[in-house]
Amino acid sequence: MKRRHFLNATTASVAASMLAACGGGDESTDAQQAQAFEQANDAKKRPVTVSTGPIKSRVIVVGGGMGGATVAKYLRLWGDGVEVTLVERANSYTSNIMSSLVLTGQRTMASLDFKYDTLISKYGVKVVLGDVVSIDPVAVKVTLSTGTVLAADRIVLAPGIDFDEVPGMGTSNKMPHAWKAGPQTALLASQLAAMPSNGTAILAIPKVPYRCPPGPYERACLIADWIKAKRPRGKLIVLDANPDFVTEKDNFSNAFFGLHGGVIEYVTNATVSQVDPASMQVYTTQGVFRGDVVNLIPRQKGGKLIVDSGLANATEGRFADVNMLSYASTVAGADKVHVIGDSSATTQPKAGHIANQEAKVCADALSRLLSGATPDPAPVTNSACYSTITMSQASWLTAAFQYDAATQAMKVVPASSAASVGWAKDNFGDMSTWFKALMADSFA
Ligand SMILES: Cc1cc2nc3c(=O)[nH]c(=O)nc-3n(C[C@H](O)[C@H](O)[C@H](O)COP(=O)(O)OP(=O)(O)OC[C@H]3O[C@@H](n4cnc5c(N)ncnc54)[C@H](O)[C@@H]3O)c2cc1C
Repeated sequence: MKRRHFLNATTASVAASMLAACGGGDESTDAQQAQAFEQANDAKKRPVTVSTGPIKSRVIVVGGGMGGATVAKYLRLWGDGVEVTLVERANSYTSNIMSSLVLTGQRTMASLDFKYDTLISKYGVKVVLGDVVSIDPVAVKVTLSTGTVLAADRIVLAPGIDFDEVPGMGTSNKMPHAWKAGPQTALLASQLAAMPSNGTAILAIPKVPYRCPPGPYERACLIADWIKAKRPRGKLIVLDANPDFVTEKDNFSNAFFGLHGGVIEYVTNATVSQVDPASMQVYTTQGVFRGDVVNLIPRQKGGKLIVDSGLANATEGRFADVNMLSYASTVAGADKVHVIGDSSATTQPKAGHIANQEAKVCADALSRLLSGATPDPAPVTNSACYSTITMSQASWLTAAFQYDAATQAMKVVPASSAASVGWAKDNFGDMSTWFKALMADSFA
C-alpha cells in the first residue's frame, strides 16, 4: 500500500468515523486498499446527531477507556432513544497510547488526560464515578462498591486488562509495568531519569496475547535511542517470553540488531518465573538478570470484573469469548452482557484503535437489537498502528478485518495488510495527527 492511501484511511477517515489498530503483512495495491477501507467506512455511515425523543431502552457501560467511551458516544448517536450510563472508576481517562513517550521526556502525563465532559454535554451520556464490583447477567444489573445497584436492558463491559501476580514482587513498586498508563508511567520515567550513566535497564515482555502487540518493542526502541543520547555507556536487556518478535518483525529486527544493536541485548523465550526487587534481579527461563531499572510487564488477562463474573471463557480462562456480530458474551445466560476492547478474545489485536472499532460494531448491533432488529451480518473493522523506532522516527502497519461466517471470526481482508518498509520522520508527525483523531472520535 502506498503511504498516501494509508493516510487517507487513517488521518482523514478517522475524523469521519473509521479508525484502525495493530496488524501487519505484505504490500498490496492501492485499489485493494481503497476498497477495503471504503467497505469499512460504508459499514459505519450512521447519524451524527443525538436523537431527542423519549427514552426507550437503557444500557450500562462499565469502563470509560477506548472501548467504553466510544460505545457510549455511538449508542447515543445511533440508538433510538437509548439512555446510556457510563460507570468509570477514575475522574478522567489516561491514554496508554503515546504513554511510552513520557519515559523519554517527550510527552507529559497531562497530555494523556481525556475528560468525560463532552460525552456528557454533547451526547447526553450519564457518567457515574464508581467501581463496579459485580454484575448479574440474567437480571441485567451491576453493583458498585458503594452498594448502589444499577439496572438496564443491556450491559457493555470494557474494563481493559489486569495482570498475573509476579512471584516475589509483593507490593514493591521497584519494577513497574507502566502498562496501564498513570502513576506507574511517571514512576518508570523517574527511575529511568535516575539511571547511572553505565546503567542497565531491563524490559520484560509477557507471553501473547497481551495489550498492544508492538508496544513493548517500540518502547524498547525508544528507550534504546534515549540511552544512546543520555546514557551513552548504558544498555537495555529485552527479555521476551515469546520465541520471536510477535509483530512487525522486519522493522523491529532491523532496529534491534542494526540501528540499536550496540545498546539492545535481545533474549527470547525468557519467561519470568520470579523477581527480587531488593536486589533488582529477574529470574527467567534463560537465566538471572540484574537491572538498575526494571520495566516488568506481567502476563495479562481481562479486567478483574470479567474473570470474577465467570465471563472469561477463552484463552485459558483469561479473556471473554464473544459473538463477533454483537460482542455478546457466549457464556450461557449472559447474552445481554457484551464485552469489548482488551477484555474480549477475538482474532483482532488488543489495541486502542481496535477497541474503538469494536465499540462501533457493538453500538450498531445494540441499537438494532434494542429496536427489535438483527445485527449487521458482515461487520468490518480496521486497524492502524505507528511504532516509534527512534525518538523522532516511526514505522506503521495496518489491516482491515471482515466477519467470516464460516468460522464466525473476524478475518484479515485479503490484501488489506501493509507495513512500512523501514521508518521515517514523517511517520512520527503523522502519528500525532492519528492519535488526536482517534481520541477525538472516542471522547469528543
Ligand atoms: C504503552 C502502550 C502503548 C500503546 N499504544 C497503542 C497504539 O499506539 N495504538 C493502539 O491502538 N493501541 C495502543 N495501546 C493499547 C491500548 O491502550 C489498549 O488496547 C486500549 O486502551 C484498550 O481499550 P479498553 O477500552 O479495552 O481498555 P482501557 O482503555 O484500559 O479502559 C478500561 C477502563 O475501564 C475502567 N475500569 C476497569 N474496571 C472497572 C470497574 N470495575 N468499574 C469501573 N471502571 C472500570 C478503567 O479505569 C479504564 O478507564 C497501547 C498500550 C500501551 C500500554
